[in-house]
Amino acid sequence: MIASKFAFRSPKDVEEAVRLYREFQGEAVYLSGGTDLVPRMKLGLEKPKAVIDLKRIASLTTVEDQGDWIRIGALARIFDIKQNNLVRQYFPALEASLEATSCESLQMRGTIGGNLLQNSRCLFYNQSEFWRRSKGFCLKMGGESCNAVPGAKTCFANYCSDNAPALRTLSAEVELSGPDEVRRLDLEELYTNKADKPFSLQPGEILTAIFVPKKKSDGGYKKLRVRGAVDYPLLGVAFSSVERTGKLAVGAIGPKPYVVEMKQPFQDTIGKAVKAVLKQVRPVGNTVVDPDYRKRMVSVLAARLVNKVMEGAK
Ligand SMILES: Cc1cc2nc3c(=O)[nH]c(=O)nc-3n(C[C@H](O)[C@H](O)[C@H](O)COP(=O)(O)OP(=O)(O)OC[C@H]3O[C@@H](n4cnc5c(N)ncnc54)[C@H](O)[C@@H]3O)c2cc1C
Repeated sequence: MIASKFAFRSPKDVEEAVRLYREFQGEAVYLSGGTDLVPRMKLGLEKPKAVIDLKRIASLTTVEDQGDWIRIGALARIFDIKQNNLVRQYFPALEASLEATSCESLQMRGTIGGNLLQNSRCLFYNQSEFWRRSKGFCLKMGGESCNAVPGAKTCFANYCSDNAPALRTLSAEVELSGPDEVRRLDLEELYTNKADKPFSLQPGEILTAIFVPKKKSDGGYKKLRVRGAVDYPLLGVAFSSVERTGKLAVGAIGPKPYVVEMKQPFQDTIGKAVKAVLKQVRPVGNTVVDPDYRKRMVSVLAARLVNKVMEGAK
C-alpha cells in the first residue's frame, strides 16, 4: 500500500511549524515518530497535502525537573522516557505503561506526544481502502452508520494509548501551542469522548509538553493483549496512589481513558471502583476478542494490579 502524494516540511521551531500548517490551509498533519501516522497514510485513512515533521525541534525532546512539575517534551521518545531517572523515581505507573507500549524498536521511534494523539482503532476501520470499500464506509470514514454495530449512529472505536491511563492516574496536564494561543489543560480535557473525532485540539495546534505533578507515587500498569511482544492493548488498567489518594484508570475500551478515585484501604474498594468504571464503558465486537471477556477482565486486572502495588508499597 502506497500513501498518496504529499509535500514534506521540516521546521526548526514551533512557530514555523504552525505557520506552515496555515500555509497549507489546514490540509497538513504533524509528524513525530510516524508509527501511527504512516500506517494510517498507507491505508488511505489520512491523505494530507503536507506532512510537517516536528523532529528537528529540539526543545520538544527533553524531560525536565521544574520544581513542582516534571515537564516531558512531546517529542521525547518512549524508550528514553522509560529510562529517565525522574520518571522511574516518581511515576512507576508511567514507567510500567511505557515498558508495555508496543515493542522496543517502536519505542525507539515513537514519541509520548504521538502516543497520546494516536487515532482510535477498530477492527472494521484499520483496514485497507479496498477492504473498507467492500464493507461500505463507516461513521469514522464519513459514512452513515457504524460497521461494528450495524445501524448504530455512534462510533465505538477504541483509543489505545497505553500511556494515557497512567498519565491520568498521575493528574497530568498538557500544553498546546496553536496559531492563536498557548494553552494548558488537564489531560482529561484533551478528549471529546467521541471515537470518530477523539481530540479537542484546534486546527494547527501542536502538543508541546506533558506536565506531571512531581509527587512520589506507588503505581503500576497491566495490559490485556494477544502477543506480549508487541500488540496494542485490548484493555489497559493503570493505578497510582499519590498522597494517600488512589486513582484507577481504564483504557482501550472506548474513546478515552475512564478514571475513578479510590479511598484507602485501596484493596477494599477495588470492587466499587470497577463497578463505577463498568457503568461508563460499552465494549462491542470491534477487536479480536469477545466484548464480554474484555469487560470481565477489567475487574481481574484491576484486582491483580492494586493488590500487587499495595503489597510492594508496604
Ligand atoms: C505494530 C504496532 C504496534 C503498536 N503497539 C502499540 C501499543 O502497544 N501501545 C500504544 O500505545 N501504541 C502502540 N502503537 C502505536 C504507536 O506506535 C505509538 O502510540 C507511538 O507512541 C506513536 O507515537 P509517534 O511519535 O510515532 O506518533 P505519530 O505517528 O508521529 O503521530 C500520531 C498522531 O499524532 C499526531 N501528532 C504527533 N505528534 C504531535 C504533536 N506533537 N502535536 C500534534 N499532533 C501530533 C500525528 O499527526 C498523528 O495523527 C503501535 C504501532 C504499531 C505500528
